[in-house]
Amino acid sequence: MFQKIKVFTIVFIAFWYTSIYSDKKREMNVKEKTIENSLNKSVDKEKIVKYEFQKNDVLSNVLMFKINVLPSISYELVNSFKNVWNPKKIKEGDLIELKMNDGEVKEFVYRPEDNPLLKVVIYKDSSGYKSSLIEIPYKREYRFIKKEIKDNLFLAFEDINKGDYFASFLSDIFAWEIDFNSEIRKGDSVIILYESIVPFEGEQKEIPGDIVYARFKGKYFGVKEGFLFEEKGGEFYYDRKGASLKKGFLKSPLPFTRITSKFSYRRMHPILKKKRPHYGIDYGAPVGTPVKAIADGYVNYAGWKGGYGNYIRIKHANGYETGYGHLKKIRKGIYRGRRVKQGEVIGWVGMTGLATGPHLHFEILKNGRFMNFLRIKSPPREILSGDRLKEFKSRILEVEKILNHIENKNKIS
Ligand SMILES: [Zn+2]
Repeated sequence: MFQKIKVFTIVFIAFWYTSIYSDKKREMNVKEKTIENSLNKSVDKEKIVKYEFQKNDVLSNVLMFKINVLPSISYELVNSFKNVWNPKKIKEGDLIELKMNDGEVKEFVYRPEDNPLLKVVIYKDSSGYKSSLIEIPYKREYRFIKKEIKDNLFLAFEDINKGDYFASFLSDIFAWEIDFNSEIRKGDSVIILYESIVPFEGEQKEIPGDIVYARFKGKYFGVKEGFLFEEKGGEFYYDRKGASLKKGFLKSPLPFTRITSKFSYRRMHPILKKKRPHYGIDYGAPVGTPVKAIADGYVNYAGWKGGYGNYIRIKHANGYETGYGHLKKIRKGIYRGRRVKQGEVIGWVGMTGLATGPHLHFEILKNGRFMNFLRIKSPPREILSGDRLKEFKSRILEVEKILNHIENKNKIS
């Protein structure tokens, strides 16, 4: 990771502009030619036909009936295509581009939507159609996003390409730090720096990769930062001091819901209409919302349990246990004795048992006693030290250098 970052930084500063420039020029040349071609129709009847695949489209039919390629040529093209790509694997959203001249197909290009770094090209030479699978050159660069939050994280990213990807990535990074159900306020803001892969051709402008740095500013929790850093063979997020963001407990078993009832020793039960203690937290959420184990552990109950409906109880380290009630469904394979990982989906929100509406009843116990989850301090986390801390500090400097560079550039333009 460290090496990668260094290489990126050099590429970013030294080659970015030159490569974009030369590429733009090439692109322009191609465009100019097509315009020329369409202007001199009497001389050259070359035209470019583009088609986006719909559901259930079959390549040979598209060629013959949608683009009007002669059956014999379409047969040859499909055969040639088969040498490098399975036509049955063409999906909705994939593109083909044909350069045609007087009904002849001069060139055929296929671009799969889910892999913008590959294309199939078919050319015609004297012996017939020749296909090849070509890797599209790309550059890597850092990109920057700044967002203000009005309602929730997902809505804040709604207006950008792959917004859901960034919102759920962020909620994973800060799953131990921020409870997105109750701690986000209007006007909070977030910035992210991420690696982006930018293909030099095709419709897709970029493929977002890892978030390398993120910072939340919140009215409730102040400033929270996460720096991506490699440690023990994996990549994890650390705060500025080198403390891992990963802790013993997730902040919540459900992202993006709201708390409908808190822990209390006496509350009016909504169905029984009697004062009864509520030894848990209720998270209101639509039926089917995935429920996650808040920590590693093993299942010691999974099944029907009276008023709880479908219920799961998990045993964790240090005498902790967590319970998850009113589930619509318990995930297949979740049974007594089964190990679960922190963040693993164990079931889905429902309203089984005694429940007035869909919600998750979540409870936590320490040494057999119910505790108020919102007041529990998570078990300690890992902190970098020695040489690793030194490396981490220089990583922070690098990230800041990139951020400054991007901010200055934005000021100029
Ligand atoms: Zn409850």
